[in-house]
Amino acid sequence: MLTLGIDIGSLSTDAVLINEKKEIVAYEVIATGASSKKACDKIFKQILDAAKLEAKDLDYIIATGYGRVKVPFANEVVTEITCHAKGANHFFPDARTVIDIGGQDSKAIKLDAKGNVLDFSMNDKCAAGTGRFLEVMARTLEIELDDMGELSLKGKDNVSISSLCTVFAESEVVSLIGADHKTPDICKALHISIAKRVSAQAKRVGLEETVVMTGGVAKNIGVVRELEKKLLCTIKIPKEPQIIGALGAAIIALENVNAATKKESVENTDDNKTSIANVQFDDDKMPKIGYFCTYTPVEIIRAAGYHPIRIKGSNNENGGAEELLCNNICSYIKTLTDEKLSGNLDHLEGIVFTNSCDGMRRLYDAWIRIDNGKKFNYFLDIPKNSDEASVQYFADVIQTFKEELENHFQLKIQNEDINTSISLYNGMRDKVTLFLQKQWNGYVGHSGYEIYTLLKKGINAVPEKFQDYVSTLTSLMKKIGDVPEKNSAPKLFVWGSILENEEIIRMIEDAGARVVSEDLCTGSRYFDKKVEITDNPYKSISERYLKRSPCSRMVDVFGRIKNIISLIERRAISGAIYHSLKFCDHTLYDYPLVKEEFERKHIPLLHINCDNSSNSEGQIKTRIQAFIEQLTA
Ligand code: SF4
Ligand code: SF4
Repeated sequence: MLTLGIDIGSLSTDAVLINEKKEIVAYEVIATGASSKKACDKIFKQILDAAKLEAKDLDYIIATGYGRVKVPFANEVVTEITCHAKGANHFFPDARTVIDIGGQDSKAIKLDAKGNVLDFSMNDKCAAGTGRFLEVMARTLEIELDDMGELSLKGKDNVSISSLCTVFAESEVVSLIGADHKTPDICKALHISIAKRVSAQAKRVGLEETVVMTGGVAKNIGVVRELEKKLLCTIKIPKEPQIIGALGAAIIALENVNAATKKESVENTDDNKTSIANVQFDDDKMPKIGYFCTYTPVEIIRAAGYHPIRIKGSNNENGGAEELLCNNICSYIKTLTDEKLSGNLDHLEGIVFTNSCDGMRRLYDAWIRIDNGKKFNYFLDIPKNSDEASVQYFADVIQTFKEELENHFQLKIQNEDINTSISLYNGMRDKVTLFLQKQWNGYVGHSGYEIYTLLKKGINAVPEKFQDYVSTLTSLMKKIGDVPEKNSAPKLFVWGSILENEEIIRMIEDAGARVVSEDLCTGSRYFDKKVEITDNPYKSISERYLKRSPCSRMVDVFGRIKNIISLIERRAISGAIYHSLKFCDHTLYDYPLVKEEFERKHIPLLHINCDNSSNSEGQIKTRIQAFIEQLTA
């Protein structure tokens, strides 16, 4: 029996061939170069030649690394996170933390005695603290990359590199050279900066000894020594740290060879053309008022005769927001600014802002300056509590909002108009709740991606039309049990704030899991809880908005987490994905508490922190795939 693992990294491509006793028969390491496809063909030929074998002699091949999908002859792909854990466990069965610093990313992996991943953390798309970072610095210092480690051992700790960004760190190095600092001292400073970053990553997953380091950077003794100082432990290094990912892949291939464990994505009973994700709702001719946050009382806008539209973030990066706003502003605000500056929102009669966060408040300030009184721009002050005083306060805010609409558009909104609008939205919420209950009670033929995409579209559809569609859909839905559920697909829950990119749900399901439930303000949370019809519609609306499923802008984080955990336990869900938009303080401040509670309850959790762009799609896919591998190991 012979199995092969191929690890296509950004700098090197490695292959390891093992026999049924997990002994290494041959291994090869080559530079990846510009084409991962060419690198994989080259290394495949090279390793077969070295072992005097032909392709037909191999029983199973697993590809890993960032170029893993480019290996046409692989039987399966597995993430490098899972492979490094397995490979490190082979040489060091007592390993409980693996630090892998590769060409363009660094990872800290927590693993069990069998080499299964328990948790992991991965750097984002920035190359700081990786092999590429060191390569750039060696070039700037005009020394060989391989000499950096030994040189730094002779260095003194008398300079520091404060920037984590490769480009800025390079300018710092240039300044240090200009100030006549010695090369060994600069090398030492660079290694200390890497150690700081990577040790924080390792501590985030809960550092446990024995610590093993893999990947090309493990050959740099300077980085290893600085990391040991930061982690206060000795780090074990395999003889050939660069091939550990490929070795892990070959071992998993051996374990899988008779098991036919190739994971399939969740089966979709509908083909793409008839998928509910593709349904389009006609653009109604009603005049429209836009809003950003789902705490906006849409019933009042509709009662005024306008159709409320939630403004989505987009991939439009041409409006000039990048030039106007600083980098650490959430991508939702940036893309809204782009949309405004591009004129894409000019068709709206007005916009309703809320005090979701400081960014939103400042966006309002900028917006009213641009519009200069020409449009209806209104700022709603929404409480963060849901007690009686807050409900009364928000009821008054809603009434004032109604009066401002009346003044601006010269109309009269009666209580009956508001109650008619409430009934309309209540009807839609009822239908959606019924539909979701049916779906969540068992698989009835629609994937999580399809349902989420449908709900996201439904938020902006005219309620009469959307409720009719959902109602028909529910009556046509297959019965539970009519559609075979893939038992092996772990059930996942997704929550967080805004999730504009539904492709993330598709990625989760393509990686072999099923999203059976979500709590997102761009999804089911919008349809949660009805408004009671009373003589005081303002108070009833206020009650509904403040007491529905809350988002992270509201206080009582512990209550929120408790509710989510109880839902996960009730529905026997295997794990959860917490989604946050980069630089969204609310969701990011919640995260450490979320993590702590999930760990206490032993519920696997993955945090994805991304923006609206598709720039980090590869990284996100790897994280999701590794998380699902962790659940199915
Ligand atoms: S996450 Fe909360 S504050 Fe942000 S848009 Fe959604 S409902 Fe509003
Ligand atoms: S996603 Fe977060 S930071 Fe961005 S606008 Fe919403 S609340 Fe503010």
